This record gives sequence, C-alpha cells and structure tokens, in this order.
Amino acid sequence: MINLVLFGKPGAGKGTQALFLKKQYNLVHISTGDLFRNNIKRETSLGLLAKSFMDHGDLVPDQVTIDMLEAEVDQNLQANGFIFDGFPRTKSQAGALDTFLSKKQMEVSATIALEADDDILIERLLYRGKSSGRTDDQDEEKIRNRFEEYNKKTALLRDFYTKQNKFHSINGIGTINEITNRLTKLIKTL
Ligand code: ADP
Repeated sequence: MINLVLFGKPGAGKGTQALFLKKQYNLVHISTGDLFRNNIKRETSLGLLAKSFMDHGDLVPDQVTIDMLEAEVDQNLQANGFIFDGFPRTKSQAGALDTFLSKKQMEVSATIALEADDDILIERLLYRGKSSGRTDDQDEEKIRNRFEEYNKKTALLRDFYTKQNKFHSINGIGTINEITNRLTKLIKTL
C-alpha cells in the first residue's frame, strides 16, 4: 500500500499531479479542498461552515477537516492506497492522520513537496480563477492570505515529516509532463 501526501503552497500543482498519480498507481485521491467545495455546492452544513473560512483564504478549523478526511478514508478502505492532497495542513492534522492511519495498520509512505516561487504561484492562481470561477483564486489579497496561512501553519510540517524521514521535494516549475516525470522518478526510489 502506498499513501502519498502531496505538499506545497496553493497553486503548486498538487491537484494536477494527483490526477496523474491516481491513474498511474491506482490510488484514491482525496482533496480536502474539493471535498469542501463539493459540500458548498450541495449546501450542506459542513459546506456552509467551510465557506466562511475559505472565502477569506483562511484554513477551515482542524477538527472539522480531520473528521471529514477520516470519513472519506473510511469509505475507501479497499483502496490500494491514497493520495492526500491539501491535507494535512497543520501539525494537529498531521498528528491526527498518523494516529488514524496507524489504527488501521496503515501509514504515510512519503510526503512530496512541489516547490515554486510565490510570483509564479500567484500568476497561476489568478489564471486558474478566470476559468474555474473559484473566488479565492480571483483576488490577490485572498491569495496572499492563503500563503500566509501556509507559512504560519503548514510550512512547519516539513520538519515533522523530515524527522520521520518521509519528506521529499521536487521542482514544481516546468511543464505538467516535466513535473510528472520528476515525480515518477522520485516515487521509484521510495
Ligand atoms: P489551494 O491549495 O490551491 O489553496 P485547495 O482546494 O486545496 O486549494 O484549498 C482551498 C481552501 O480549502 C483552503 O484555502 C482552505 O480554506 C480549505 N482547506 C483545504 N484543505 C484544508 C485543510 N487541510 N485544512 C484546513 N482548510 C483546508
């Protein structure tokens, strides 16, 4: 079983590469951002709650996010493995994920960071916002707030996974194919 955490700032390309990895290794892709957006679309109470945070570019509270993630894993226990995209984003989420997986005799196999500079990321997000209609991608101030959330709460997970010898990073700048090739090469070494 292979369980990958895709790590990186908003716009780093996690979702794009997850689609490839999902097919290539037959994994279940869990994107917390997609799950929240789906709940917002269906106007569930979870969606309503998440929206108030997402609209400002803030993280959704940990316990809400953790419960949603765990429910999603539980619904896919027959899977070959998982790609966690956008989760964990805080130390408390990372701890909860380890505890939850170990109860099921599972563990994170590797965390892979996609690295790119803020300027490139802002450009990508504003471009994505035009076609996706995602309001959090259309406003530079919201984007900068998401980067701040990342710097304050998510960046420290580098240390968390480095201590477990599970942290890897690749250059996230280039064509989608180039980045896919870098990922494939790295995964072969795991
Ligand atoms: P991006 O990484 O490009 O910002 P996502 O779709 O992964 O896009 O996330 C969009 C928003 O969903 C985040 O800004 C945050 O409000 C919320 N979100 C997603 N994942 C998490 C998480 N693990 N913890 C808290 N909030 C989250």
